[in-house]
Amino acid sequence: MKLLVTGGAGFIGSAVVRRAVAEGLGVVNVDKLTYAANRDNVASVAGDASYAFEEADICDAGAIARIFAAHDPDAVMHLAAESHVDRSIDGPGAFVQTNVVGTYALLEAARAHWRGLSAPRRAAFRFHHVSTDEVFGALGPTGKFNETTPYAPNSPYSASKAASDHFARAWGETYGLPVIVTNCSNNYGPFHFPEKLIPVAILNALAGRPIPVYGRGENVRDWLYVEDHAEALLAVIRRGRVGETYAIGGSAEARNIDIVRTICRVLDARRPEGAPHERLIAFVTDRPGHDFRYAIDASKIMAELGWRPSVTLEEGLRRTVDWYLANEAWWRKLQRRGGVGERPGLSA
Ligand code: NAD
Repeated sequence: MKLLVTGGAGFIGSAVVRRAVAEGLGVVNVDKLTYAANRDNVASVAGDASYAFEEADICDAGAIARIFAAHDPDAVMHLAAESHVDRSIDGPGAFVQTNVVGTYALLEAARAHWRGLSAPRRAAFRFHHVSTDEVFGALGPTGKFNETTPYAPNSPYSASKAASDHFARAWGETYGLPVIVTNCSNNYGPFHFPEKLIPVAILNALAGRPIPVYGRGENVRDWLYVEDHAEALLAVIRRGRVGETYAIGGSAEARNIDIVRTICRVLDARRPEGAPHERLIAFVTDRPGHDFRYAIDASKIMAELGWRPSVTLEEGLRRTVDWYLANEAWWRKLQRRGGVGERPGLSA
C-alpha cells in the first residue's frame, strides 16, 4: 500500500510516517513546513527508497493534483492542520484556511484521483481524516466521549476541526469517497513541538524557568502516547470500516497539575541538582473558554480492531522526559522559532 500522509513533518504525522515506513508501506509525505513542522522528525526515514517528501500547501489544488498524479497513492491519511488552540484564539483565520478550506481541497483532489482508479483499487481506497476529541466540547467531572457524542466545539481550533470532520463525512455520503474519521484525545511523546504543555514543562524545568500552568491546573485530559496513536491510525486505515468514526484515547486521565508534578518528579531523579523542580510551578491566567475535561471511551476501536495503548501514562512520561534529555539538539533549534516561549491566546 502506498500512503499519502499530509502533515507528516509534524508531531503525530511524523510518528505515523516513521512507523509506516518501518512496516514496509510506501509513504509520500505532503507538508507545507509551517512553524510547527520539522524535517528532522522524519530524518530517520528520509533516505528510504519507499519514502518521498513533497513540500506543498494542501490548499493549493494544482500542487496537490500534481502530487496525486505523480505518486498514485492507495490511501490518504490527512493530519495536516493548524493544531495549537492558543494560537487559534489570536489568529483563527489560518485555522479556517488550512483546517477547513485545506481539507475541502484535499477531499476534492482525493475524489478526482479515486474516480480514476481501477474498480478494485477504487474499492480498496481510503480517505482517513484525523481529528480530535475537542470537537465534542467539554465534559463535567463524569462521562466520556464516544462515537455518538454530539459535536459542540468551543475554540476556533476545535470549530475548524469539527467543520473538517463534517466535510469528510459529507464527501463519503454524497460522493461515495471511502472516508473514515478518527477523533483522538491529547497526544504526548517524542518530537512534541515545544509550545505544548508537556514539552514546555520539561524544558522550562530543565532550564530552571517558571513552569506555566493555566488556571489552577485542574483541567483534565485523557493522554495517549503518540506512538500508540500512530499504531491505532495504521490499524484504522488498514482494517477500519468505511463510513465509520473511531474514538481513540489512552484511558489515562490526569489533571494538568498532576502531569506537571509527575514530570518534575522524573526530573528530580534524572537531574537531582535542580530538585525539587516543583518549586518552579507558576499558575498563570487561564485560557479563555478552557474546556474543563476530555475523556474517551475507546471500546469500539479496541473491540473491532484489537488496538490498545501499550504504555501507561507514568511510563510514557518517563520515556518522554528521557527523550528530551537525550535530544537537546532537536529542541534547541525549535526554541528560536517565532512565538515559542511566548504566551499566545490571551487576546479574547
Ligand atoms: P502539528 O502542528 O505538530 O503538525 C501539523 C503539520 O501539518 C505540520 O508539519 C505542518 O507543517 C503541517 N501543515 C499545516 N498546515 C499545512 C498546510 N496548509 N498544508 C500542508 N501541511 C500543513 O500537529 P499534530 O499535533 O501532529 O496534529 C496532527 C493532526 O492530529 C491534526 O489534524 C490535529 O488536529 C490532530 N490531533 C492532534 C492531537 C494532539 O494531541 N496533538 C490530538 C488529536 C488529534
